[in-house]
Amino acid sequence: MNSIPVVIFLGAPGAGKGTQAAYLSRAKGIPKISSGDMLRAAVHEDSPLGRRVHEIMKNGGLVDDETMLSLIKDRISKPDSSDGFILDGFPRNRHQAEELETVLPLHGRVIAINIQASEEEVVKRIAGRRNCPKCGHVYNVYFHPPADDEKCDLDGTTLFRRNDDSDLVVRKRIMTYKKETLPLIDYYKKKGVLKAINGVQPQDDVTHEVLAAVQ
Ligand code: AMP
Repeated sequence: MNSIPVVIFLGAPGAGKGTQAAYLSRAKGIPKISSGDMLRAAVHEDSPLGRRVHEIMKNGGLVDDETMLSLIKDRISKPDSSDGFILDGFPRNRHQAEELETVLPLHGRVIAINIQASEEEVVKRIAGRRNCPKCGHVYNVYFHPPADDEKCDLDGTTLFRRNDDSDLVVRKRIMTYKKETLPLIDYYKKKGVLKAINGVQPQDDVTHEVLAAVQ
């Protein structure tokens, strides 16, 4: 029986993948595995991996497939992933997608969710995006501001702006997305596992559609 959910979030930077993946993770009790968060943690810790990927991330490029595959394979082999998991930011190109298939759980049921949002919309959203370094909660100073200026509502930590969220780097990340990641929509569509969701509607409505898609 194919029953273990493997949910892949696709969509441009700023489309809302991370936010929706976090809701789904809580609702389903399965981990959210964010490749970007894992890399940012490595940069923050100044580990050898972090030092290697820092410049690439800062400039909006993609980290090499070999590094990403070993990071993700390692993470999904952990016991907490055995009942399913949610991927946010991985795969990012066809090679990663093909390699992922070779390590998916035997009884995995893959669902790829494409959160759709226009380029204009994502650029606007990213300009206001602020992150909590402690709990990872994401705010938007224009659309979902924290109650207290630049502090996290949940734990009071001072929010920060990702250094790859600057306007220039965002344009580069969108270019990279179009060239490398956009073709994955067709890839998963051909496999019959793609669900497209309008990401430009109230957040709760997006969540509702995401939950319905994985039932
Ligand atoms: P994200 O938080 O998903 O926007 O990722 C931030 C940055 O991490 C990206 O711009 C890339 O430099 C790098 N990154 C994250 N996931 C991947 C991936 N699957 N393959 C290559 N690079 C990645």
